[in-house]
Amino acid sequence: MKCDFCGKKLETTFLNKIVGTYMKNKKSKRKVVCPKCQKDHTREKLLKKL
Ligand SMILES: [Zn+2]
Repeated sequence: MKCDFCGKKLETTFLNKIVGTYMKNKKSKRKVVCPKCQKDHTREKLLKKL
């Protein structure tokens, strides 16, 4: 799985959960964002690009 914002590959935990956050974009599609993008960008900015 890749970050939908920067395209970087996301790590998964031993429980096979992704290290990142799910966000819903305007079209109600589920997108994943890595922790770095979350830290570097505001939610509004992320949503604009997703
Ligand atoms: Zn990212």
